[in-house]
Amino acid sequence: MRAYVAVGSNLGDRWARLAEAARALRAAPGVAVVRGSRVWDTAPVGPPQPRYLNAVLELETTRTPASLLALLLAVERGAGRIRNLRWGPRTLDLDLLLLGDRVVRAPGLTVPHPELARRRFVLAPLAELAPELRVPGSGATVAALLEEAPVLDIAPVGGYPL
Ligand code: ATP
Ligand code: CA
Ligand code: CA
Repeated sequence: MRAYVAVGSNLGDRWARLAEAARALRAAPGVAVVRGSRVWDTAPVGPPQPRYLNAVLELETTRTPASLLALLLAVERGAGRIRNLRWGPRTLDLDLLLLGDRVVRAPGLTVPHPELARRRFVLAPLAELAPELRVPGSGATVAALLEEAPVLDIAPVGGYPL
């Protein structure tokens, strides 16, 4: 199944964290990294904190939703992520945006990601990979959601370090 994962970092060597995320996912059983979006430098949302690098990775996976989430959380931990402040700064954040046409509403996992439609910093890189993809539950395409998303200061700064 195709999966789209949002990658974000705003602490330390942000480019290295993005490269590390792709490398760790590629090395994991049941996951292939198909391609990456460009990397975007984005204004932080939430408490005051440094700017983010954001991108999206397209994966092909045989994992279940729960097993894919567990992998994402393990890769975050491997990158030194410490959870404290909600929406606070982090070395690496991996969010499961979409997993095929699956809709999941479990205690620790919601897919599609509930904030997807409101986040320009996620929709812009996702639209580079899959503009015509329809988000399950909403029926809207990624491109249409991007057009409607709140304005935010974001700009592409390079290709994904795959
Ligand atoms: P947001 O989810 O609004 O982007 P966040 O990324 O800062 O906030 P985290 O602290 O990284 O939130 O994650 C908190 C929990 O969210 C995770 O432990 C995970 O169980 C849960 N979660 C629910 N749905 C998802 C999803 N689609 N992708 C990643 N985590 C999810
Ligand atoms: Ca997030
Ligand atoms: Ca997260």
